[in-house]
Amino acid sequence: MDARLDGRAVAESVRAATRQAVESFAQDAAPPALAVVLVGDHPASASYVRGKKKAAAEVGIESTVHRRADSISQDDLLALVDTLNTDDAVDGILVQLPLPDHIDPHAVIEAIDPAKDVDGFHPQNLGRLLIGMPQFTPATPSGIMVLLEHALDDLSGQRAVVVGRSNIVGKPLAALLMQRNANATVTVCHSRTRDLAAHTREADIVVAAVGRPKLITADMVREGVTVIDVGINRVDDETRERGYRLVGDVDYDAIAPKAHAITPVPGGVGPMTIAMLLRNTLQAAQQHRGQ
Ligand code: NDP
Repeated sequence: MDARLDGRAVAESVRAATRQAVESFAQDAAPPALAVVLVGDHPASASYVRGKKKAAAEVGIESTVHRRADSISQDDLLALVDTLNTDDAVDGILVQLPLPDHIDPHAVIEAIDPAKDVDGFHPQNLGRLLIGMPQFTPATPSGIMVLLEHALDDLSGQRAVVVGRSNIVGKPLAALLMQRNANATVTVCHSRTRDLAAHTREADIVVAAVGRPKLITADMVREGVTVIDVGINRVDDETRERGYRLVGDVDYDAIAPKAHAITPVPGGVGPMTIAMLLRNTLQAAQQHRGQ
């Protein structure tokens, strides 16, 4: 059996549903409007923003990119966020991370109106998620949940090991997996975890969100495991025109033969993240315009 869990195909079905819903929304209203703030010229961030803008256009969501130089002060960035918060024509706001070192990302995230926080990173939205009353769920973890629902009939009682405890992936994903509607038994591992393999070997589901190529190897997982690879790592590759290729955190080729399901990189979690962001933006517009 082919264990490949095709994130592009699943994402396309999520996008198609969003496209339809946007179409009917925009019949008697302006299309949903997303404001994207991009600070500096970090090449990966610029490429993510281009991808989001293109994907938004494809489903009928209007997006405006507010580019600011690396040298922008924190106060000026907060002022921009405030302008977008009060602009009635803006439904959703997204500040592309990472931000330059002189800017405190928490201060910027907290400044976003939680009702427009389509990334779901505001403490209010993360808190709501934790207590099982989500408003906006961060796009990567919610995309992972959709992928898991595709791969497995029921997550109830499954042992899930999440490797990585960031605020944008690991922690919200652990919260989603342990909610009453998912009912997985969750272990969260990180850089201080003793004997990572002892944990992953016990798992029915392994999610790697670390940022280290091939951290998860075949000897670290059991037969029949479902593996979600969140990592996006650039490794040098002279055979590619751009000089690098993208790989995940998981040794895909070695694990696929023993896995029930496994996501590739690229083509796994990445497309889901964008699809879920578009869904959140539509939701923001519906809530904002009282629909
Ligand atoms: P962070 O750097 O914020 O977090 C990485 C986590 O991995 C930390 O909790 C860290 O532990 C843990 N870690 C580091 N080394 C080890 C190790 N040897 N063993 C176990 N745990 C370890 O990363 P993000 O969560 O932001 O992103 C993770 C990866 O996912 C990156 O490659 C990123 O590019 C990618 N990503 C992909 C997305 C997509 O759409 N596909 C979206 C978001 C991220 P500690 O807390 O102790 O430092």
